Amino acid sequence: MKLKLHWQILIALFLGILLALASKAGGFENFVIEDLSILGVIFLRALRMVIVPLIVSSIISGVTSIGNAENFGRMSAKTFTYYVTTSLLAILTGLVLVNLIQPGVGAHLNLQTVPGNLQANVEKLGDTLLGIIPLNPLAVMVEGKILPTIFFSLLFGFFITKAPDPYRQQLTDFFQGVFEVMMKLTHFIILFTPVGVFAIIAQKVAQTGLDVFIPLAGYMLTVIGALAIHAFITLPLLLALIGRISPLKMFKAMSAALLTAFSTSSSSATLPLTMSSIEENAGASNRVSSFVLPLGATINMDGTALYECVAAIFIAQVYGFDLSFAQQFIVVLTALLASIGAAGIPMAGLVMMAIILNAVGLPLEGVGLILAVDRILDMLRTSVNVWSDSCGTAIIAKTEGETGLKVLRQ
Ligand code: ASP
Repeated sequence: MKLKLHWQILIALFLGILLALASKAGGFENFVIEDLSILGVIFLRALRMVIVPLIVSSIISGVTSIGNAENFGRMSAKTFTYYVTTSLLAILTGLVLVNLIQPGVGAHLNLQTVPGNLQANVEKLGDTLLGIIPLNPLAVMVEGKILPTIFFSLLFGFFITKAPDPYRQQLTDFFQGVFEVMMKLTHFIILFTPVGVFAIIAQKVAQTGLDVFIPLAGYMLTVIGALAIHAFITLPLLLALIGRISPLKMFKAMSAALLTAFSTSSSSATLPLTMSSIEENAGASNRVSSFVLPLGATINMDGTALYECVAAIFIAQVYGFDLSFAQQFIVVLTALLASIGAAGIPMAGLVMMAIILNAVGLPLEGVGLILAVDRILDMLRTSVNVWSDSCGTAIIAKTEGETGLKVLRQ
């Protein structure tokens, strides 16, 4: 019997960690970090290769099946309500926990090197929002800019439904065909996930020493605790109460995608797996998933939003700043904005911290305090980001009256 993909990935994760530890003990970590890691690079490149054509064809074929403007408006309203509500719930969970635990109060930490270009990011957020409307749709696709590509694809798909026949039918069939081909290609790449995960994890573990965790243990536990509450309590409650969906079945259906998000620290790179898992294992339609997932991978980041809030307040605590209620409110709002603006790539959230620190007047160098443990937190928050997108897709599919869902409670 063939081993299920998520088991294969779990075994790969485990073996990757073992190899990294062995390489450190045996002094051959350079082989793992420099040579073996090529397998991970190949896997990530292959995933990135399919992202733009997959997003374009899936959105266009999905939107043409949504049909009229009324359906389109209803789906958009549901999707955005879900994104904003869950992101705010996540931020509030982080806010409560970081105020209760106060991991930064009295902590003595050394600043590590600060990532460059922080100030540039503060100014760039406005541009990113405006940049959603592409000047040249083909150029943004070629450059792999996700938000403007989504924007154009949504409009293009919508106006196909307004075109007269035979063009409407021809174009609908054409994009449906491209989408089917892209899914087949994606499945082929997904077969190699265990190999990619093995190499990526081995490299990450070999690069990181455990000693950096000790001074930041309180901060890490606060972020991890809040992420756990959001992933294992808040989102499952929404699944069960609004969608009558079994959180456990949903978790099983999405496990390969969640493990890949964990290993790659990138919602965008995981998107091909998220889409195929939600459609094949959870049984949601392409009509809903193509609307909720690509957008979600870029703008709905519950894990990142939560982390931004905890990290900003932690930095304030370390510097001995007492944030007023109004300032904490600004942290909540800017954490939401930063999570929307963060790209679905590794460490995007860390770079976006600059926006929040700037908004409440904290020194940008504060980012240097949390740098050492960002990698592991990035893995966890990316999994939560993908989990929230998946839960949203299932809930919206259920409220749209879909009958094919395989994750409903008995
Ligand atoms: N790595 C995260 C993601 O791709 C973004 C972040 O850095 O928070 O979802």
